[in-house]
Amino acid sequence: MRKYVIMGVQGSGKGTQSEILCGDFDMVHINVGDTFRWHVKNHTKLGAQVKRVMNAGDLVGDDLVESVVRGRLDQHDWNYGFVIDGFPRNGRQAEFFMESYDIDGVIHLEIPDAEVRRRVLSRRLCPNCGMDYNLIADRPEVEGCCDICGHELLTRADDTPEALDARLRDYHEKTRPVLELFRRKEVVHDVDARPEPERVQAAIREALHLPALAPGK
Ligand SMILES: [Zn+2]
Repeated sequence: MRKYVIMGVQGSGKGTQSEILCGDFDMVHINVGDTFRWHVKNHTKLGAQVKRVMNAGDLVGDDLVESVVRGRLDQHDWNYGFVIDGFPRNGRQAEFFMESYDIDGVIHLEIPDAEVRRRVLSRRLCPNCGMDYNLIADRPEVEGCCDICGHELLTRADDTPEALDARLRDYHEKTRPVLELFRRKEVVHDVDARPEPERVQAAIREALHLPALAPGK
C-alpha cells in the first residue's frame, strides 16, 4: 500500500498527475476540496458545519478539516493506497497527518510563479456548455469561440492577474511551513512541473521508485 501527499500551486498540474498515477497503480485520488463539496451537497452533518463556518465568512478550522479527512480515509476504499491533494494546508494539519497516517512520500510539484501566471491567465471557459480551454495547450479551433457550441469564450472572474497574485502569495505563505515539516521527515520529492505532463509523470515515478509502467500494461 502506498500513501502519498501531492503538493503544488494551482496550475502546476496536480490534478492531472494524481489522476494518471492513481489510474495506473489502482490508488484513490482524494481531493479534499471535492470531499468538502460532497458533504455540503449531500447535506451531511459535517457539510452543515462547513456551511455554517463559510456563511459566517470564517475559514474552516483545523478540527473540522481533520474530521473530513479522517472520515474520508475511514471509508477504506484505498486498498492499494491513495494520493491526497489539497491537504494538509498548515503545519498543524501536517503534524496530525504524519501522526495518524504513515506517509510514504510527498510529491512536490515545483513551478515558478511566472509559469503559473502564464498557464492560469491563458485559461478560457465556455459559459454556455462549460467546456474548458487553454490558449497554450488546448486552443479552440476558431479564436474566442467554443468548438462545441460556438459560444463566445470568457475568462473566469477570478483569473485576473491581481486575484492570481493574491492566491499565489497565500499559497506560498501557507505551504512553506508544511513543506518544511515534511522536509525534516525527509519525505519530500521535488519534481519540476514545467515539462510535458508525460515527462512530469515519469519524473514522479522515478522519484518514488515506482515502475515506469504500471504492472500489466
Ligand atoms: Zn460551449
